[in-house]
Formats: sequence, C-alpha cells, structure tokens
Amino acid sequence: MSDTAVCLRADGEGAFTAERLAAYAALVEREEMDELLSLGHFLRGLRVQQINSARRGGGVAEMLQSLIPFERALGLDVSWDVIGAEPAFFIYTKTLHNFLQGRPCVPDLAGTKAYWDTNRQNYALVREDADVIIVHDPQPAGLIKFVPEEVRRRQKWIWRCHIHLSREHQFVLDFVRSLIEEYDLVIFSAGKFLPRWKVASAVILPYIDPLSDKNRDLPAEQVREICSRHGLVDLEAKPLIVLVSRFDPFKGHQYALEAFRMVREQMPCQLLMVGGTASDDPENEAIFAGLKEQVHGMPDVHLLNLPADSHTEINAFQRAARIVLQPSIKEGFGLTVSEGMWKEKPVIGGDVGGIPSQITDGYNGFLVPPGKKGVEEMADRIEYLLKNPHFAREMGKRGKEAVKERFLLTRGVLDELRLIKGLLEG
Ligand code: UDP
Repeated sequence: MSDTAVCLRADGEGAFTAERLAAYAALVEREEMDELLSLGHFLRGLRVQQINSARRGGGVAEMLQSLIPFERALGLDVSWDVIGAEPAFFIYTKTLHNFLQGRPCVPDLAGTKAYWDTNRQNYALVREDADVIIVHDPQPAGLIKFVPEEVRRRQKWIWRCHIHLSREHQFVLDFVRSLIEEYDLVIFSAGKFLPRWKVASAVILPYIDPLSDKNRDLPAEQVREICSRHGLVDLEAKPLIVLVSRFDPFKGHQYALEAFRMVREQMPCQLLMVGGTASDDPENEAIFAGLKEQVHGMPDVHLLNLPADSHTEINAFQRAARIVLQPSIKEGFGLTVSEGMWKEKPVIGGDVGGIPSQITDGYNGFLVPPGKKGVEEMADRIEYLLKNPHFAREMGKRGKEAVKERFLLTRGVLDELRLIKGLLEG
C-alpha cells in the first residue's frame, strides 16, 4: 500500500477499506493523491450536502454513489439526499429537461405548480447546518427559493448542470436563469454549455469509478455466463455491438438500429440495446415499448430493459462488446462513452455535447454526426472496425489511456474540492 493511501480515513459509512484506497492510489499519479489528501486536510469536517432526484439510474446517481464515500474517506462530512415527488412533478421536469436540450415540447403549465409545491415540500431535506449545498440538475434547483435569509447568508449553494444546455428555447432558459442566478456557483460538464448568466461558472468533466461494479475487471467466465443468460451467444461468429442508455429520445437508439441493419446486410453481427429505469425519468417505458415493437422479429437484435442496479450485467455487456455505440443527438457528457473506453472498446459516439471531450476522432474512437445524417458514417465505421480487429484493439487501448488520464473518480473529486475551496476563500 502506498504512503498516500494510508493517510486517508479508511472507516465509516461507505465501507472504504484500506485496500480500496490503495487500489485508487495505484491508478493515478502520486501528485494527484497528494493534492486530494491536502484538500481533504484543509476541508476536514466541512459539511457538504448533495441533492438530486434519483438514488439509482442515470449518470448523476452513478457518480454520487462513488463520490460520497470517497469524500468521506478524505475527511469531509458529506451527505446525499434525494427529493421525493409525485409523477406529475417528474413529467414536468422531464419536459423542462427536453426543452433545455432543445426539443420542442408542449409546455406543461399545470406542472409549474407541481414543481414549486414539490420544491417547497422538499426544503425539509435541506441541512441548515451544512456549509455547502450542491444541487444537481433542474429538478431540485427550486429549493434555493425556500432558504431563510439567515441560513442562506452562511451557506454556499452550487448548481451542477449535467444536461446538454441548448439555446433553442429562450423562454425556458430565462426561467432557469432567473433561478440559477441565485446560486453562488454553477458547474457544467463542458465549456460549450457555459451561458452568459450573472453567476460564477465553472466546468467539471464527469468521471467513472474504476472500482465500481460497473467498471471493475470481471473474469471472462462471468462475462460469458451473464451474456448467455441474456441470450447473447456466438459472440465470436457474430460480434456484439452494444448501446447502453436510458430509453430517452436523445440517446439515438433509432440511429444505432438503422446503422446496424446496414452492417448486418454485409457481415454477421448482433446488436444489444440495453436500458433501464430511472425513477425521475417517466419516458422510459413508452420509448422501450416503441422500440420493442420495432425490433420484433428482427434477427440478431436484443433489447433489454433491466433494473437500475444491474451494474455487473452492464459491465459484462460492455466487456463482451466488440464495439460500443453512443449515437446521442444531445448529451451532457455520456458516462457510457468513458465506460466503454475503460474496457478497451472502440466507441462510436455522436459528435455532440460532452462526447467529443472524451473521443478524439479516429484515434481513440470515432465521432459521427448526430442523428439521421450520421447513420451511414456510423455503419461504415462499424464495418471498418469489425473487419480490422487489430486496429479496433489498438483504438480501444488508447481509449483506456484517455480515461485513465482524464475521466476517473479521483480527478472528479479533486476538481470538486478545488472549486469548493476556491468558493470558501472567496
Ligand atoms: N446505465 C445503467 N443501466 C442502464 C442504462 C444506463 O446502469 O440500463 C448507466 C450507465 O452505465 C451510465 C449511466 O447509467 O453509468 C448513464 O449515464 P450517462 O451520462 O451516459 O447518461 P444519462 O443517463 O445520465 O443521461
């Protein structure tokens, strides 16, 4: 075990063992661990509350699950709370989310009341003794309106936006802006989303946890067993192409399917599209049902809707894949891209939002134009990678290196703590 890791607090909630800390330390540069320790020392005992709208399912929950125990191990007093809400609230906030990502929707004016009522009721969750409150995405953003002035004066409020902020619908942006300008700091997942609002803003690139069930190494036998349990067999003869995503209108399932059909006319292969439910996303079932009807009777297409905690299964599918797809048309970051790259897979992603910060086109993956116009190129890239397995392997290795350098949990924690320290120091 390295000297740095032993200095960390390997106890308490989150069950951080000394071995686990040593495993993180072994993956990153010594200076990174040293800085984490020194920030942990500086911020020791700081009360930080993270608030979002889903305990499981989706990228935010995925990151918080790993971040919280790590920051606790560093010595911070971090807690995580999830707002509770009725379906009407989530229907409204998903519409808001879709608007913010640029999709024309029908404004749900009745939902506005549900939004404010829910945020008012959930204010009871806010730790008034916290020094820093970090609120994720638009769902709980309204909590700030209910903080008593005296409490607000001694707290720092940060809003972290994980979605692809588009400029299409000005009236929705104005609504969000009026709320968000009350925060002390706003964090986005890519520089291109930074709006010109009257609030301090910063960028933190998201990250994956290399030791989580989603990303840790798995024995080949276990990968085979999980695949075969879900009907994925003959992986040598019919290489597997995998898309892991919530069933959401922006994730590009349709385009993956079209590209796959073009490739399958040329060579044997199979496609797996796997998604799951997130409690704050009401669109999952309808989109899944539509896709199910569409792929009915289509050979070599597998569609799975799994529980949100199927991390080992997703890990196995990504490891079994020859190619990983993420053809999003809007994407805040797309953790699934880094997850695929970490498993040394060539990833083909839509050239939108946070995906190009992960993929260097032609080097450690491929970028394709988002939507219909990218389908043919995606099919060409898939075919090329299937015909050139040596090149695909090299590309995959370079992908893992990129993730190791830039998209691991330790860097995410470091960025967050640096910002908190900066904010406290004014
Ligand atoms: N995910 C999962 N099961 C699914 C679909 C997605 O565990 O059926 C995970 C996926 O592996 C990733 C996260 O959910 O860790 C999705 O994060 P991403 O940033 O790609 O997209 P988001 O859902 O946040 O838009």
